[in-house]
Amino acid sequence: MTELYDLVILGAGAAGMGAAQYGARANLKTLVIEEMAPGGQALLIDRLENYPGLPEPVDGYTWAETMRAQAVEFGAEIMASSVSAVHKEDERFIVETGDDPVQAKAVVVATGAKHRHLGVTGETEYAGRGVSYCATCDGPFFKGKRMVVVGGGDSACDEAMFLAKLADKVIMVHRKDRFRAQKSVAARVLANPKIEVRFETVVEEIKGEKSVSAVSLKNLKTGEVYSEPASAVFVFVGSIPMTEGLPADLAKDETGSLVTDDRMETNIPGIFAAGDVRATPFRQVITAVSDGAVAAHCAAQYIDEIEGKAYL
Ligand code: NAP
Repeated sequence: MTELYDLVILGAGAAGMGAAQYGARANLKTLVIEEMAPGGQALLIDRLENYPGLPEPVDGYTWAETMRAQAVEFGAEIMASSVSAVHKEDERFIVETGDDPVQAKAVVVATGAKHRHLGVTGETEYAGRGVSYCATCDGPFFKGKRMVVVGGGDSACDEAMFLAKLADKVIMVHRKDRFRAQKSVAARVLANPKIEVRFETVVEEIKGEKSVSAVSLKNLKTGEVYSEPASAVFVFVGSIPMTEGLPADLAKDETGSLVTDDRMETNIPGIFAAGDVRATPFRQVITAVSDGAVAAHCAAQYIDEIEGKAYL
């Protein structure tokens, strides 16, 4: 039969690594399955400056590597594979992977979220040719050029600040009359002389030939539609939780995020959720790590309960 783990964690981002560290340290035989490099979205952070204990900002890659090393040091195993399905047979979860399936007594879903697309003409056509969802990955290709950033949340504001270091000018387009982002982050954007903010404005079309050369913008207040020259469009309009392959009867909210109780347990006993895939009011590295720690701790209690070893 396939190998049996106490705890299988789906995803090695901040939430998955938090769960791995706490699971392994609780003496659970712990496996993390990740299809990409460990670190998740944290890998893309240019300056992680709001994680406690790090008064000097670090880059996301450095931070993620310390999390990975610490989890492994505590005994967690990491498997590079993708998960295609999770189902329950008797008291065991079977996790189907690109390799052999594995068995788990409890599962933590820490699969995170993927970028939402704008859905305008030209977005798909110019993806990889000026349209991007990752500033640190693609920003350097457009050094000295005009760039458009779309969105009004923390991601858009953080990434606009990063891109402003590279760009001739950043035009920031947001559909509302103020930012959704945290006030301190938004204030930095508004004070940056290289960023020009266009509130109450939407992108109607992304235009170009071989690559992006302009965007068509609409001022929602006046109705004016105009063309804005730009070599790149960076889209940060939120995210979609990644729940593919998970049991269909897992409870979700209206955005598709997994609903948990305060023990991070979903409506299916033994399946826990942590981080960006979970319905939560605040998505930060620190809250993802915390979710992971709570999920692993409560998974350990769940295992004790099903094995008749609960501390009463
Ligand atoms: P978000 O907070 O959901 O913001 C998405 C932004 O995109 C919103 O301003 C939204 O407008 C806009 N938007 C959505 N669909 C749109 C469309 N079709 N056309 C135009 N605009 C559209 O997403 P996020 O910025 O990616 O952040 C996700 C989570 O991660 C948040 O909880 C955030 O706090 C967290 N995060 C934190 C940090 C940090 O602490 N430094 C950094 C990155 C992310 P409306 O405002 O009108 O809805």
